Amino acid sequence: MKKDYYNILGVNKEATQDDIKKAYREKAHKFHPDKSGGDEAKFKEINEAYQVLGNPDKRAQYDRFGTAESFGGPQGGPAGFDFSNFDFNNVEFDLGDIFSDFFGGGNSKRGHKVAQRGRDIGVSLEISLEEAFKGIAKELELRKLVRCMHCKGDGTEPGTGKIKCKTCEGVGELKKTQRTFFGVFSQTAVCPTCQGEGQYPEQACKDCSGEGRVRKIEKLSIPIPAGIETGGVLRIHGKGEEGIRGGEAGDLEIKVNIKEHELFERDGADLYSEIGIPFDMVVFGGNAEIKTIDGKVDLKIPAGTESGAIFKLAGKGMPYSASRRGDQYVEVYIRTPKKLSSKAQKALKEIAGEL
Ligand SMILES: [Zn+2]
Ligand SMILES: [Zn+2]
Repeated sequence: MKKDYYNILGVNKEATQDDIKKAYREKAHKFHPDKSGGDEAKFKEINEAYQVLGNPDKRAQYDRFGTAESFGGPQGGPAGFDFSNFDFNNVEFDLGDIFSDFFGGGNSKRGHKVAQRGRDIGVSLEISLEEAFKGIAKELELRKLVRCMHCKGDGTEPGTGKIKCKTCEGVGELKKTQRTFFGVFSQTAVCPTCQGEGQYPEQACKDCSGEGRVRKIEKLSIPIPAGIETGGVLRIHGKGEEGIRGGEAGDLEIKVNIKEHELFERDGADLYSEIGIPFDMVVFGGNAEIKTIDGKVDLKIPAGTESGAIFKLAGKGMPYSASRRGDQYVEVYIRTPKKLSSKAQKALKEIAGEL
């Protein structure tokens, strides 16, 4: 991994720390995966470069060895940087800071944000079999982009208006004419300043820097329906990330995993369990208490029941509609006595010939 960090940030080797910081902000803003035209891979690369060049000590090391792979090499430099698990959500920088250059004055050369759908969010949730049986409302805390309350998602500072785009004069697109040897070609392109809207906020909202959304922890109560199977996916419309400037919110997708249960195995709506019963009960018959997912029932064990016999408890399985449940199947095994008094041993030996 030979990477030219200067090249990645678009600065030269003489750049001051301020130049580097500025270049980083510009690029991080441009390629942030939350934005239109964002690029996660690029964004990681930019952050990787800034981790090194933004730190004078690391930068000096880098300058000396030329490449990042020299780090931790035979020269005994500091440990290498592993960005393979880099989480861009945890990158610490102030979005407002980045945007301040961007929206300042309203005559920026770069594009303003237009409405855009928010991203979907996927999470997984683990519940118990009992919870899957009853259905449950699960509380969830999600750190995500939510609507900015200050501007109500519009991105415009309250009390200020919108101004006509100066680049395209409100048309939303630009015509480019090129004279070549073969003739005159003209091309229209979406205006990069207003992104085709023809106007932009006179003053970007102070709280969200014009995005119309801010990152916050949102508490959600997720209704998990009774009978859900492991791997089941719930899709909640509009609970993903808020869209940019009032754009539609993404969806929240929750994958539900059900924990292994110590007593039950599940196959669709049916449950399987085992019961160990004493030797005399299989011989003479009797009542065995069986645990079900929602209580217990008495199961009549007929005299002469064999080990491995399976009994069906109708309607004691998992729900699969509002009023219907699967069944529970109970496999009987004989509990062999481990400790017997000498009296019992003697009696058993006496009758052993009959068994
Ligand atoms: Zn706002
Ligand atoms: Zn424009």
